[in-house]
Amino acid sequence: MHKHDFTGKNSNFPLISRMIAPCVRHYCPDIRIMSLLTILEFPDPRLRKKAARVKSVDDALRETLDDMVETMYDAEGIGLAATQVDVHKRMLVIDITEDNSNPQIFINPEITVLDPEPLGHEEGCLSVPGYYELVSRPRKVKINALNGNGEAFEQEAEGILAVCIQHEVDHLDGKLFVDYISALKRQRIKSKLEKEHRQHKTAASA
Ligand SMILES: [Zn+2]
Repeated sequence: MHKHDFTGKNSNFPLISRMIAPCVRHYCPDIRIMSLLTILEFPDPRLRKKAARVKSVDDALRETLDDMVETMYDAEGIGLAATQVDVHKRMLVIDITEDNSNPQIFINPEITVLDPEPLGHEEGCLSVPGYYELVSRPRKVKINALNGNGEAFEQEAEGILAVCIQHEVDHLDGKLFVDYISALKRQRIKSKLEKEHRQHKTAASA
């Protein structure tokens, strides 16, 4: 999800100001150079793949998760699912803080709705850049997942975190926030993004 999503007038949550990404990040204490991953954009068919459960949490997986956190911060997002970087494993990263101080990892996340009362939020997505639409989701959920060490944990979430987790888990099932809006609006966004992608391609090959 995009960091700017919650600045909208439809948000019931405090305004999160637009942030400028810090030039230097110290998320990972070791010396491994992290890579920025390419974020797939709607309507790329790879965003529709259903991710497989993670069988073992090892160093290679943790490296991918580190790269996902870095990629999310670089793109000024508050959440990124593995599907969005063409890794089809059930894992996602989230950091809803303004100063990128609390990266959270969810592996094999399972959501249980605790309060189904719908909460409307203006959502956006790093895979649907530049578009924001009102989406209603259950206001309170519980998440069971594994952390980066492969340990099981349980967490309750409401507000921004609940919206973000539901949005990211949708990605793992090949679902996008634009699936919740009208077919007409979705088609309009699709056409505009396809046009942008064509222009970028032309510019890149010029
Ligand atoms: Zn998204």
